[in-house]
Amino acid sequence: MSDDDGDQGGGPPYAECVLCRKPTEYPESHKGITLCPVCEWQEAQRTACSG
Ligand SMILES: [Zn+2]
Repeated sequence: MSDDDGDQGGGPPYAECVLCRKPTEYPESHKGITLCPVCEWQEAQRTACSG
């Protein structure tokens, strides 16, 4: 099996989630607020419930 998907510490720097400090899928050069998929989903739920 050849698996090229292993992260061995040589990947690009990812921006931290502003809420939980976990690495996001966005690069550090990403503009604006960076959220991880989980927090992004939660924010979407909150926005959907506001009213
Ligand atoms: Zn998060």
